Amino acid sequence: MGFDLHGLLEARRGEGYELSARHLNPQTERVLHAIGFDKVYERATASWLFDADGERYLDFLSGFGVFGVGRNHPVVRQALRDLLDTEVADMVQMDAPLLPGLLAERLLARAPGMQRVYFCNSGTEAVEAALKFARCATGKPRVLYCDHAYHGLTVGSLSLNGAEEFRAGFGPLLPDTRIAFGDLEALERELRRGDVAALIMEPIQGKGVQVPPPGFMRAAASALRAKGALLICDEVQTGIGRTGRFFAYEHEDVEPDIVTVAKALSGGFVPVGATMAKGWIFEKVYSSMDRVLVHDSTFGGNAMAMTAGLASLAVMEDEGLVDNAARTGARIYDALQALAERFEMISDVRGRGLIIGIEFGKPRSLRLRGGWNMLQAARKGLFAQIVVVPLYQRHHVLTQVAGDHMDVIKILPPLVIGDEEVDCFIDAFSDVMESAHQGNGLMWDFGRTLVKQALHR
Ligand code: PMP
Repeated sequence: MGFDLHGLLEARRGEGYELSARHLNPQTERVLHAIGFDKVYERATASWLFDADGERYLDFLSGFGVFGVGRNHPVVRQALRDLLDTEVADMVQMDAPLLPGLLAERLLARAPGMQRVYFCNSGTEAVEAALKFARCATGKPRVLYCDHAYHGLTVGSLSLNGAEEFRAGFGPLLPDTRIAFGDLEALERELRRGDVAALIMEPIQGKGVQVPPPGFMRAAASALRAKGALLICDEVQTGIGRTGRFFAYEHEDVEPDIVTVAKALSGGFVPVGATMAKGWIFEKVYSSMDRVLVHDSTFGGNAMAMTAGLASLAVMEDEGLVDNAARTGARIYDALQALAERFEMISDVRGRGLIIGIEFGKPRSLRLRGGWNMLQAARKGLFAQIVVVPLYQRHHVLTQVAGDHMDVIKILPPLVIGDEEVDCFIDAFSDVMESAHQGNGLMWDFGRTLVKQALHR
């Protein structure tokens, strides 16, 4: 009788993969098993995960970016406990509670040009709100998006996804229009048609870690403004300090009209999303008392999410995490540049702060070409996969490939990393590069196994 969390976790310990295979996404367990990532983690703190044997793993993925303040930050945990102890009168719906107002105040103080906030529960919801707000505020239907863009997977956000593999099978989507990332001419051409509500873009694209040409965002903002269209900056991944500024758009000294946030605002505990915008946009959407609920979400602004958000922002400030992201990011970037000189298959290193992409390219030396060509012929992107696997298996460093069909790996560490974590990653990565550039051995054997799997997909 009753509910005993500890007892339940103990009684069913280790059954996660089996349950997933039986009841959840039917591919998750298969994929994790195939690449040898089917580990059971028992505990986590800051940048580290621990398995049942007490082995530790360096988390350079940070839950796709939610653990900005690190895992299980004691200040955020305490704040959530404190909230529960207040027996909060949450989600009355017919009141104006204190916490959303306080979090809005804190966020807006860090977001130049933004005046109001709509709270929801995820990144994709923040983007959905941005789309509706842009259409309503401009009275125009079309939203432009960029090649390789990722803004979430609900139908509106999916209509702005720049990768076929996500879109296929889910149409018809919204008739929105894709332009190349950083292509000002294409933007101007589309604007001339007179029906554009907005351009949505990530200041740095998560897929492939693409950085736009310098000055593009500013030029885009003024081209859009000249035609009465809006710039939506999707900062779901880049926001809250990730790039070494609080918002990545600050690097470009640009003022967007709408900014979306999620991920790290959660403190890694409570899902949350936020759509910030200029005041006049909110005035258009919520234009009369009748329209008070015209865009709304039951859980938006709930006390747990708001508390986690407020506590996370306090931690960011107290621990100087935005500056830490800039400093440690620069250290990693410089070390990777040095490795790129040494290892011919590293063709590019790019990013800002703690979102960094490492791209691999065709080797010059003949002895490595055979292996490279074999992987490319089977499926583009397999080389990046054979790097991610030994980083994890041999060195216990968790990273990810930066997207389908691209030879790029992405590192997205918690913003709390210090010199120990940087050194650990760089040592691991150079060792893996060393093996890859030997052109034989276990890594390339694994590559052959993946090729066989790819051919049988
Ligand atoms: N926008 C961007 C830029 C993202 O990186 C993501 C998630 N990776 C999303 C939107 C969607 O967020 P969510 O998964 O919380 O819906």
